[in-house]
Amino acid sequence: MLAVVPPPVTVRVPSKVNLHLAVGDRRADGYHDLATVFQSLSLTDEVTVAVADEPGVEVHGEGAGTVPTGASNLAWRAVEELARYAGRDISELKVRVVIRKGIPVAGGMAGGSADAAATLVGLASLWRLEIGRDELAVLAAKIGSDVPFVLHGGVALGTGRGEQLVPVLSRHTFHWVLAFDRRGLSTPKVYAELDRLRADGEPPAVGAVEPVLEALASGDPRQLALLLGNDLQPAAVSLRPTLRRTLRAGVQAGALAGTVSGSGPTCAFLCESGEDALRVAAELAGAGVCRTVRVAHGPVPGARVVNDESPR
Ligand code: ATP
Repeated sequence: MLAVVPPPVTVRVPSKVNLHLAVGDRRADGYHDLATVFQSLSLTDEVTVAVADEPGVEVHGEGAGTVPTGASNLAWRAVEELARYAGRDISELKVRVVIRKGIPVAGGMAGGSADAAATLVGLASLWRLEIGRDELAVLAAKIGSDVPFVLHGGVALGTGRGEQLVPVLSRHTFHWVLAFDRRGLSTPKVYAELDRLRADGEPPAVGAVEPVLEALASGDPRQLALLLGNDLQPAAVSLRPTLRRTLRAGVQAGALAGTVSGSGPTCAFLCESGEDALRVAAELAGAGVCRTVRVAHGPVPGARVVNDESPR
């Protein structure tokens, strides 16, 4: 009897912005404890997984040339993690992963993590695994600290290294303009720079998280704008001083406030409305302070299958 080859599965997955990112001191194991509020954004990657004789990863789109296609691609780490869970032979995986990137690479928006989360969801569907979201989240956390959040989407409070999540109720939509920089920033280097700045003095630190949660519940972007904060921002700006100009330009263009997203260098500008975001984006695009400008909104759902023609 001929084995039936399941059709490819495509998954759309969001990026993230940190509305609040409090970074603790460096721990003995080198990591930092975080308290962060994530919001998922409509700037997405799409990942297609398919059964194929030639296994591997293909990357297209935004910054594709700088993304590894071998075993170090986070999407492939997800393939291996799910294969181990399913008891499949890792040396004989007939899986091809095709990534279409919309999320900037090394931009502080969890792009690689997003591809890993999408691959987990897509492959679980392709292989028809009986695995719930909670179990997928456990695998996700093994791959990277941002992977569980982009799997879930929405808004969440993250602690630990950011992987321990509590969902935050947020029924309102917020509008953003994102300014991509010409080159990425390495997340470990940004943390190391923060350690250096802290050894030398007291870089500005974010306040309490509760007011951020209240602003989210109120849905008022003006209230939220006053509270955006990121302990990594001084470190990202120290490594990439031109970000200071970008942050200023966004506010001059009419945004309510700007913040470096995660470890940067992408700058995220919160706007009053969708129309305002379009206006700010147009003006910022002409200011010559960044490579590309995009508009996005959030929160949006986490990684989800967008085409699955196979019978249910
Ligand atoms: P985070 O916000 O989670 O700190 P980031 O958005 O700053 O991450 P990524 O886009 O995830 O950064 O990329 C970080 C590095 O990971 C890249 O320089 C790249 O070499 C590597 N990488 C591995 N897999 C991927 C992938 N699927 N997409 C993008 N980068 C990947």
